[in-house]
Formats: sequence, structure tokens, C-alpha cells
Amino acid sequence: MGYFPGMHVADAMADVAEDSERVVRAACQQCAVREQVTVPADRHDKYLQGGLIQEVFPEYSAQQREVLMNALPPWRVDRPFSYFLCTDCWHDMGAE
Ligand SMILES: [Zn+2]
Repeated sequence: MGYFPGMHVADAMADVAEDSERVVRAACQQCAVREQVTVPADRHDKYLQGGLIQEVFPEYSAQQREVLMNALPPWRVDRPFSYFLCTDCWHDMGAE
């Protein structure tokens, strides 16, 4: 990617973000609220190709990993028991 005199830096950075990051969403099965996580595309690919989530995203919170594991299309991962709860519903259930 080339830089041109007078090109806005913000525009250049937006291009990079689009190429290297992915916004993954999951919908709460209780209240339909959607949560989203932004992940580096290369690491997300690793996960989609069969990587273990705790190894690919060790610094992510359990809730962020839940979003990735229960992602809506196009990032859906084939899981037999997909059940995502948003942070609020999770707390309502007293599970934390
Ligand atoms: Zn919810």
C-alpha cells in the first residue's frame, strides 16, 4: 500500500484495520442482545481452522471467548451445543 502526499493518516489506518481485524458477533439466546468482539483476523483464522480458543486467545475474557465460540454467521463455528448469554443474563443467572 502506498502513501501519497496529503493522504490522511486516518484513512490509511482505517484500511489497515479493515484488513487485519474482524468483528465477531453473538446473539444472546435469552434476550437477543448482541455482543461483539474485535479480533485479529490471522488469529481468528487459526481458531476457525481448529485451534483451541484458550491457546489462540489466552488474554481474552471468558465472555469474549463465548462470543467467538457462539458467533453468528459468517463466523459460525460448528458446535453441537451452542448457547450464548450476554453479560447481563449471565449475571442474572447467578453463574458468576
Ligand atoms: Zn441477554
